[in-house]
Amino acid sequence: MVEKSGASRVEKLYAVKGMNDILPSDSPQWEWFEERVRQQMERHAYRNIRTPIVEPTALFVRGTGETTDIVEKEMYAFEDRLNGEALTLRPENTPGVVRAAIEHNLTYDGGKRLYYMGPMFRHERPQRGRYRQFYQLGAEAIGFSGAEVDAELILLAHQLLAGFGLRNVRVELNSLGVASERHSHRIALIAFFERHAELLDGDARRRLHTNPLRILDSKNPAMQEMIQDAPQLLDFLGEASLKHFDTVKTLLDACGVPWSVNPRLVRGLDYYSHTVFEFVTLELGAQGTLCGGGRYDGLFELLGGKPTPAIGWGMGIERVLELVKVQGGGVLAQAPDAYAIVGDSDCFVAAMQCLQILRAEGVSVQMHAGGADVLGSIKSQFKRADASGARFALIFGADEIAQGLVTVKSLRDGAGAQSKHVLNDPVQWAKSLQSHA
Ligand code: ATP
Ligand code: MG
Repeated sequence: MVEKSGASRVEKLYAVKGMNDILPSDSPQWEWFEERVRQQMERHAYRNIRTPIVEPTALFVRGTGETTDIVEKEMYAFEDRLNGEALTLRPENTPGVVRAAIEHNLTYDGGKRLYYMGPMFRHERPQRGRYRQFYQLGAEAIGFSGAEVDAELILLAHQLLAGFGLRNVRVELNSLGVASERHSHRIALIAFFERHAELLDGDARRRLHTNPLRILDSKNPAMQEMIQDAPQLLDFLGEASLKHFDTVKTLLDACGVPWSVNPRLVRGLDYYSHTVFEFVTLELGAQGTLCGGGRYDGLFELLGGKPTPAIGWGMGIERVLELVKVQGGGVLAQAPDAYAIVGDSDCFVAAMQCLQILRAEGVSVQMHAGGADVLGSIKSQFKRADASGARFALIFGADEIAQGLVTVKSLRDGAGAQSKHVLNDPVQWAKSLQSHA
């Protein structure tokens, strides 16, 4: 764009709608989250897996399910301009993990416990807690059929959320049984909805024969009363499925994690079975589901693998951090240990040599910088040092350097106290600057 004055100004660019920058003011919370996750995953013996963000579109059509909102309307699907391949930005990571597990035969020597963190993409209407690029933490236990692993995964999510200091998060459970039980339920469900056809909205009518279970999930207020009376899958479960579900509940009880059964909690896809669950809060408005998951014993076969029982969950990181904020938790940004003040531009050589060694010793130091002409007075540098939150100022003045010394001045506890140290051997005094020494 060329302005009238003749000066040219280039048009500003903005982030894509629904895709957010995570700025340095917020990133301490994200790093805190990630560190805690790594620690908990290690304690639970879950190992990290990283799969590509772009996958063949067919992976999600099959693995997420043709009749889901995600595949019907939320995918960032595109054709590779160079070779015409149908590709998609991952809307979730479970299909990618399963593809990788099949491709690399990960379960050849037994079950694997895996976790991932990263961006997912869904073309939804952006609002609080709902974005087009958002981040998920996920855990998947593949190759395990026992109910104790269902409980382990739920306990893992609980432990994480409790570790972030979160309160008032409910655990809701349901069981989807096995295929034959779902089949009997489906017949009863379709018959029920057909008897109430006049109450079904457009979405529900469309799903009646493709995915009637999803109708139970509807948020349409006009349909709620009818949905309350619909046949419940739980009533169709046989002995083995009930036993699996009971084991999960008993283990949660034994570990002191409260739960409730929500018969309307469904994952309307045929590869789901047995336990499904959600962690929900009432404190985030409409986007109150923090974490959702379930057992997907049928997915490996659907993606061309051998039958492999598996279960997993996905947690929305933005929503968890939002709840941390709402409840007044989290961490403060970490201030550097020290701030380096430089007398004049000739002092940089000695200062930077010294800082390199201090940093190698584990001290965090922010160096004053501003270009040779705008270094600023010592007084204004002290203001910056103070604002940085550092506990110490290191003063590299010309006189000190000439004597082979650097002055260390305390900015916090006992502010003003100062001492001199040898410039050429910072290893000797580095430890005295560290808060975690
Ligand atoms: P919802 O009913 O809120 O749309 P979902 O069933 O689509 O959730 P899952 O696919 O189970 O969600 O994803 C797991 C978690 O990821 C959700 O519980 C939520 O915390 C988070 N999540 C899902 N979609 C978004 C989004 N668009 N923006 C932010 N977080 C999201
Ligand atoms: Mg959704």
